[in-house]
Amino acid sequence: MKEFDVVVIGGGPAGYVAAIRSAQLGMSTALVDEYIGKKGKHVLGGTCLNAGCIPSKALLDSSEHYHRVLHKFDSHGIKAKEVSLDVPTMIARKDKIVSTLTQGVAGLFKKNKITWLKGHGRLELGMKVSVKPTSGEGEKEVVQAKHIIIATGSVPRTIPSLTIDQDHIVDSTGALDFTEVPKRLGVIGAGVIGLELGSVWSRLGADVVVLEAMDDFLTMTDEQIAKEALKEFKRQGLDIHLGARVKSAAVGKDGVDLEYEDADGVHDLKVDKVVVAVGRKPHTDGLNATEVDLFIDESGYIHVDEFCCTNIPDIYAIGDVVQGPMLAHKGSEEGVMVAERIAGKKTRVNHETIPWVIYTWPEIAWVGKTEKALKKEAREFRSGTFPLRASGRALAMEETVGMVKVIAAADTDEILGVHIFGASASELIAEAVVAMEYNASAEDLACIVHAHPTMSEAVHEAALDVHKRALHI
Ligand code: FAD
Ligand code: AMP
Repeated sequence: MKEFDVVVIGGGPAGYVAAIRSAQLGMSTALVDEYIGKKGKHVLGGTCLNAGCIPSKALLDSSEHYHRVLHKFDSHGIKAKEVSLDVPTMIARKDKIVSTLTQGVAGLFKKNKITWLKGHGRLELGMKVSVKPTSGEGEKEVVQAKHIIIATGSVPRTIPSLTIDQDHIVDSTGALDFTEVPKRLGVIGAGVIGLELGSVWSRLGADVVVLEAMDDFLTMTDEQIAKEALKEFKRQGLDIHLGARVKSAAVGKDGVDLEYEDADGVHDLKVDKVVVAVGRKPHTDGLNATEVDLFIDESGYIHVDEFCCTNIPDIYAIGDVVQGPMLAHKGSEEGVMVAERIAGKKTRVNHETIPWVIYTWPEIAWVGKTEKALKKEAREFRSGTFPLRASGRALAMEETVGMVKVIAAADTDEILGVHIFGASASELIAEAVVAMEYNASAEDLACIVHAHPTMSEAVHEAALDVHKRALHI
């Protein structure tokens, strides 16, 4: 039986990063993964590279280009005639980016001498992992591990009365592979994934109706920003219904009949396709958790402590399969931490400074606490805001929708949260993460020189506004 210092189960951004870091630290490492890519072959990268972060961003970028040519070039004095759309080319570009990156990870595995075991990984008693070929054919292999890292990720949640057929009723994976633009698209769930995928197909010309069960919009986001974002997304044409819970869907000859309920009663909605984007759940199927006594909590997450240790010594769990935001970079950092702790280092992850991004246009990004959360904690704070309509660079780019908000402790001035709605918010948030990681105060941020003209000046001005000394508003 082969023996490894570290065996990782799951090759997404949590697992493959854990494997690379383990190998860098000199540990013999194997990774088991069962993901089959679009071409029917085993691929690394998990949900993020194959059906998540990367393909969705590729389509968000392509669709934004198309939308710009049609609706935003005119004011720049650029006249574009006979603009047309080639969806298969757009999808093929996305697929190429995915395969470049998944092959890149395979290359990194070779370079770091990581053994890639292709198939379904199962925990066995005595720190063993069995690997069953995904096709069901071939020999089952069993390997011995000194340490096991579980990184089995998450899968889409479903609605019991809706059957995903990946044709008329699709999940997020299906919505990344439409071959033409649906005329009428229903999106169930106005969370991050629903808004991103709804935006893609809306920009490409679909009439998109988003049905969201909750009465409030983007509840984890700063309330002021969520309000502005809802107004802007509706202005862009996303027909967002809040307090609308989808009950059932029936596929007919001419599309899908959706039934949903809101405060006014039960309604029918006819659409061509439906994207079910009602969240994701931790994936522990077939892990053999019960037999090995691995503790899974009542929400389905593998229970871990702050260092990602499970209840079994030398077995760790990271990424979407454990509590915390289902974000790729959160899982990767947990992967680095676990590998380094196995190697005897004292690494930890600061879960308070994990940035969140919603890649709509404009983007929404934040780090730290919202005003609502601070009020709940009865913590006193001051906040400063700066609207992008007052930013020279935003005006030059014609991207004046949005704002930056900096929230700081009333007593110490330490930055407690930064919330951005605007062009490039995903990049701008990095400055706030660095500032918070170093326990910077709003004044520290206000004292730093920001290049002119840049969008980052809005972060500077919002920090100045915490002490009511913004210069350009
Ligand atoms: P996963 O990426 O889910 O990988 C788990 C891997 O383990 C898979 O390959 C799976 O096949 C394999 N596996 C599971 N069980 C077994 C087993 N028993 N044996 C062998 N293999 C197994 N996050 C962001 O940070 N930014 C974004 O922009 C973003 N966009 C997204 C867009 C969409 C449409 C979706 C669906 C998700 C998006 N996410 C984004 C979330 C992100 O994809 C996840 O947070 C991330 O992939 C989690 O990484 P992970 O390694 O924990 O799990
Ligand atoms: P997220 O978890 O951020 O991806 O968001 C998923 C969203 O789907 C949440 O805001 C849920 O309220 C919403 N949701 C869940 N079930 C339904 C349903 N049956 N109809 C409409 N929205 C739903």
